[in-house]
Amino acid sequence: MKIKSINPYTEEVNWVYDSFSFAECESKIGKSRAAFSGWSSLPVEERTKYFSRAGEVLRQNTEIYAEIITKEMGKPIRQSRGEIEKCAWLCDYYAENAAESLKDEIVDTGAEKSYVTFEPLGIIFGIMPWNFPFWQVFRFAVPAMCAGNVCVIKHASNVPKSALEIEKVFIEAGFPENVFSSLLIDSKTAMQIIKEELVDGVSLTGSIGAGSEIGGLAGGLIKPVVLELGGSDPFIVLEDADIERAAQVAVKSRFLNTGQSCIAAKRFIVTEDVVVDFIEAFELEMQELKIGDPMDEETDIGPIAKKEFIDSLERVLRDAKKKGAEPHTYGEEHNKGFFFRPTLIPAASTDMKVCNVEVFGPIAPVITAKDEDEAVKIANSTEFGLGAEIWSRDLERAQRLAKRINSGFVAINGMVKSDPRLPFGGVKKSGVGRELSHYGLKEFVNIKTVVVN
Ligand code: NAP
Repeated sequence: MKIKSINPYTEEVNWVYDSFSFAECESKIGKSRAAFSGWSSLPVEERTKYFSRAGEVLRQNTEIYAEIITKEMGKPIRQSRGEIEKCAWLCDYYAENAAESLKDEIVDTGAEKSYVTFEPLGIIFGIMPWNFPFWQVFRFAVPAMCAGNVCVIKHASNVPKSALEIEKVFIEAGFPENVFSSLLIDSKTAMQIIKEELVDGVSLTGSIGAGSEIGGLAGGLIKPVVLELGGSDPFIVLEDADIERAAQVAVKSRFLNTGQSCIAAKRFIVTEDVVVDFIEAFELEMQELKIGDPMDEETDIGPIAKKEFIDSLERVLRDAKKKGAEPHTYGEEHNKGFFFRPTLIPAASTDMKVCNVEVFGPIAPVITAKDEDEAVKIANSTEFGLGAEIWSRDLERAQRLAKRINSGFVAINGMVKSDPRLPFGGVKKSGVGRELSHYGLKEFVNIKTVVVN
């Protein structure tokens, strides 16, 4: 089978690769198993040095990697560069902090000595999405490897070049061979790897459908699993908010990565006193967005990553129109590339699909809420629970409301952004487990208790 990387702007084929057979996967994973014993027995202070070097490699080659991201999935080039810089920051963070977080914890139990120690599990299998092709992989693999595990990934089928380049980053940084490997495989082969118990833990970042299948399979085999799944983040604007600032951040949050981010604000829930002002300010911001060639430094919105995603965006829009929506669409039509024009849906209602399913593209529904209680009720009304934003000048009020939101992250007067120092993950169908910070570092470890009597 061939794995093809297609440029969503030119519609041309970038790169074509032969996918790996199952036997090739077995052989590669066998080498990972062999690498585990050396890697896991290094003192953590030694392992972390490799991550500082990985950060340097990323910084030295930012332009090369950023261009690959943009060519494979259409992200505007400035944002692709930002993605690489963020990966380097993550490497630095763990290089500086992992040893401290993984230190034995002494607990006074009255015994001679009691302590908790953190030991790696073995081979951790990452199944990764295309929307942040470098960041998602680094976010998973760096903490897992810092803790002494080795990692094997199956990247999304539309970003094979990114998968191979990431493997090279670790090689260039001097990591021992096979501590990190990319397999070019389809999802069926990925499932077989789990089924045959070639790996010791699984981390998926992707859709609920994939999460349910992979989580079900791995859970049935009693393997630890982390699931980082979709979201439909509410962006609540209360009557005492700074409306202009809220609208600026709302547009940034919704349209970053052309709307293809799990933590994009996807539903704008605005109290009735300020909804007209918010929409006006939102539209002014939207008009500033430059849509076009993602390699152009000025571009804010590029094409959608895959052609078939446009159909699902159109379906959601048709459903909204059928239920009374009058969408406002911006930017000119493109007759080449997988473009979908940014669209605002004022007066959206909660029965519309756009307010319930995860919309992975540049559509922004605005829902009017009577008051803060109704805003919270609407915010919590989907199956997701990833992030949420609350806008109010009253910080006490906003924090009270934050407690009532079912999500893994609440940003007050700002945007939900992942940060290596903070845990990241969801509740409800947005996922299981946490990545980043010391919480992420300990997802794939044996938390071992030792009691000396
Ligand atoms: P996806 O279709 O679920 O795919 C994710 C990965 O899983 C890909 O490598 C895909 O391979 C693989 N896959 C899909 N079904 C599988 C199965 N049954 N068995 C084994 N592997 C399977 O998601 P996507 O379109 O790449 O990414 C978008 C989704 O990811 C959105 O829902 C988004 O919210 C979510 N996401 C979540 C986070 C987070 O941190 N919570 C971050 C980023 C993205 P193929 O490409 O070969 O199909």
